[in-house]
Parts: sequence; structure tokens; C-alpha cells
Amino acid sequence: MDLSCTEEEEEFRARLRRWLGEVLPKLPDRPAADDWPGRRAYDTAWQRMLYDAGYAGLHWPVDAGGRGATPTQHLIFLEETERAGAPYVGANFVGLLHAGPTIAAEGDAAQRARWLPPILRGEEIWCQGFSEPDAGSDLAALRTRAVRDGADYLVTGSKIWTSHAQVADWCELLVRTDPSAARHRGISWLAMPMDAPGVTVRPLRTLAGSAEFAEVFLDEVRIPAAYRVGAENDGWRVTMVTLSFERGTAFVGEVVACRRVLAALARTARDNGRWDDPELRRRLGRLSAWFTALWRLTQWNVSQAQHGGGGVPGAGASVFKLSFSQARQELYEAAAEVLGGYALDADREWVAGRLTSLSYTIAAGTSQIQRNILAERVLGLPKGR
Ligand SMILES: Cc1cc2nc3c(=O)[nH]c(=O)nc-3n(C[C@H](O)[C@H](O)[C@H](O)COP(=O)(O)OP(=O)(O)OC[C@H]3O[C@@H](n4cnc5c(N)ncnc54)[C@H](O)[C@@H]3O)c2cc1C
Repeated sequence: MDLSCTEEEEEFRARLRRWLGEVLPKLPDRPAADDWPGRRAYDTAWQRMLYDAGYAGLHWPVDAGGRGATPTQHLIFLEETERAGAPYVGANFVGLLHAGPTIAAEGDAAQRARWLPPILRGEEIWCQGFSEPDAGSDLAALRTRAVRDGADYLVTGSKIWTSHAQVADWCELLVRTDPSAARHRGISWLAMPMDAPGVTVRPLRTLAGSAEFAEVFLDEVRIPAAYRVGAENDGWRVTMVTLSFERGTAFVGEVVACRRVLAALARTARDNGRWDDPELRRRLGRLSAWFTALWRLTQWNVSQAQHGGGGVPGAGASVFKLSFSQARQELYEAAAEVLGGYALDADREWVAGRLTSLSYTIAAGTSQIQRNILAERVLGLPKGR
């Protein structure tokens, strides 16, 4: 792995920095949580700005509409945008970070042409309909049925924890197309239009106070078979591609964001006197080392994905997901320690950050499941069951 910057990459960094310096001061604040239409409009407008400036889909392959950037350029982009406090990927999350890359890797020419450009231009939002009641960690237990009816499937069932479902145009949906096959074999990966008749979205309010995800009920929803990505009943393999993108590269920008939060905490601790506590200083120092290590792991994962893994992150994805979600939780625990009552009274962002951090060890596969993956696939230990 060589991630030292070439002259060209340093020029890319300088150009990006200049552009961010010009556009960010003019951007308004992102609308508050629960203004979902407002947030959608904001996030898609930002994506459009990135697209117009040539920064959309930087790491996507050129034949998928991306810029075919080097791994180092991709990391520079993440680092510089986070460092400058550029908007979060927000409602564009699923489309840009895992549905889009999955379609680029597994879709046919018509599907790539139909779905990828609107994702890159910030015109269409995707959500992820994988989890179901009783099929979260054990995803292969999913029961949503798709029955063939001519050129279509008729889909019936329900999904849960579908982030951004209330503002999404499309859903990457897992369905059971062959109930008689072995659990992992009878599954297909479909793109479902969220405005199709029979789709009902019911938002769920979380501990953090916002309704970021929803239950989605499906009642004989008609989906063209042409919207299936990959072969019928081969959806489990396609899903593994989606999940490795989700776990491996989708959170990487947040490592830089966490380093920014940590630096802000250290400044606050100096200002409010908490810095005098050697135990707290040790804690912040340990977190700083941890996030530096995570950034190195990120570089390694991205480099592996683009050079050795055919564009798909490998087992390093689970190492990253496991460690990052734990580090993020500890960061916000340390924040509560530094800020004390102030965190509750004066700044809701800290409270939201703390509460949201709890979900990171669950979202995109729980820590226990990541440990199982590492035990079985990396260490070669026997399966638990
Ligand atoms: C913030 C957030 C956003 C999400 N967004 C989406 C989304 O957009 N789309 C989507 O489809 N899903 C989404 N999810 C759902 C998420 O993927 C599931 O919550 C997750 O897979 C866990 O499934 P579960 O909640 O059913 O828990 P369960 O699978 O019931 O697990 C409960 C507990 O048992 C443990 N456990 C279960 N099986 C094993 C095992 N074999 N070995 C060891 N331990 C085990 C788990 O680790 C966990 O601690 C989101 C979740 C969160 C928290």
C-alpha cells in the first residue's frame, strides 16, 4: 500500500480546498432534525453542487458515471470536506455509499444508466429495505415474499428501521423469491419505487428525538422483474456486496468528523478546567490514538478495495465497523465527562451525538455479528451454529 501523495494529488487537494473555501461560507445551516423535506432539499442541493464542480462519485468507476479517482484522492476528498465542515452526505447516504456502488458493480447497462446518474446529480434518494421484524442480524430469515406475475413481481411483507424511507424515491429491497430453497438461496435484490401503490411508510421516533427511520409495509406492490439486480435467487451474493460497501467505506468520512469533535472537546476541557484531571487527559489521548489508527485502517481498506478487491471492501470492513462504532461511543461518553451538565442544558447537538452514538454498534450489523464474521472468515474458527 502506498498512499503518499503525488504532485497531482496535492494539486487536487489544493483545488478542492479552494473550492470549499469559496462555497462553504455561503451555505445556510442544514435544517433541523424532523424537517425531513427541508433536509432532503438541502442534502440533494449539496450533492448537485458537488456534481457541478466535478466532485460527485469521485471513487465510482468512470463507466458508472464516476470520476475513477485514485484511492488517495478519495481519501483526500473525505478528509478535506470533513475538515472544512462541509455538509454531511445525509439523505444521499444509501444511494451514494452502498446502493449506487452495488448497482455499479452488479447492475446491467440499462440499470446503471437509469439509476446511477440521478444519484450522482442528487435528484433521487434511496433507502435500504433489508431488516424485518425477526430478520435483522439473521437477515437470511427475511419473509417478505415476491411472487412472479408475468413481467412483474408482486411483493408483500414488511420492513423495519428503514432510514430516510419518508423522503426516499427508491428502496434497495430484499425479497424472498423462492420459499422452498435454502434460506440464503431463495432471495433476490430489487429496486422498488417508493411511490408504487401498496407501499405504506410509518415513521418511528427514536431516543434522540427524531424520526429518522420508519416501518415500511408492502401490500402486493408491483415491481417490474427488470428492476432486479443480479439473477433471481442470487440476491444473497448481491447483498454481501452491498453490506461490505456499507460496513467498509460508508462510515469513513465520519472518522475525520470524530477527530474534529475530539479536538473541540480538548479545547473545551482547557477552557472549563477539566483539562487539569490527568485521568481525563489520558482518556482523550487514548481516543486520539484510536481515531488515528482508524484513519490508517480506512486508508488500508480503501486501498485494498480499489487495488486488490475488485472495488469491493473485504474483511477489513468488519474490523473497521466494529472498532469505529465502539470508538464513537467512547468519544461521546468522554464528551459527557468534559461538558457535564452543560451538555444537557446548552447544546442539543452533544445530546443528539451521544444518543445517536449508541445506535452505531447496532446499525449496519451489530458488533456481535462483526465478531462472528471475523471469527469465521478471518480467523477460520468453526461456525457457532
Ligand atoms: C440507526 C439505525 C439505522 C438503521 N437503518 C436501517 C436501514 O436503513 N435499513 C435496514 O434494512 N436496516 C436498518 N437498521 C437495522 C439494523 O441493520 C438492525 O437493527 C441490525 O441488523 C440488528 O438487527 P435487530 O435489530 O433485528 O437485532 P437482533 O438481530 O434481534 O439482535 C439482537 C441482539 O442479539 C445479538 N445476536 C443476534 N444474533 C446473534 C448471533 N448469531 N451471534 C451473536 N449475537 C447475536 C445481536 O448482536 C444483538 O445484540 C438500522 C438500525 C439502526 C440502529
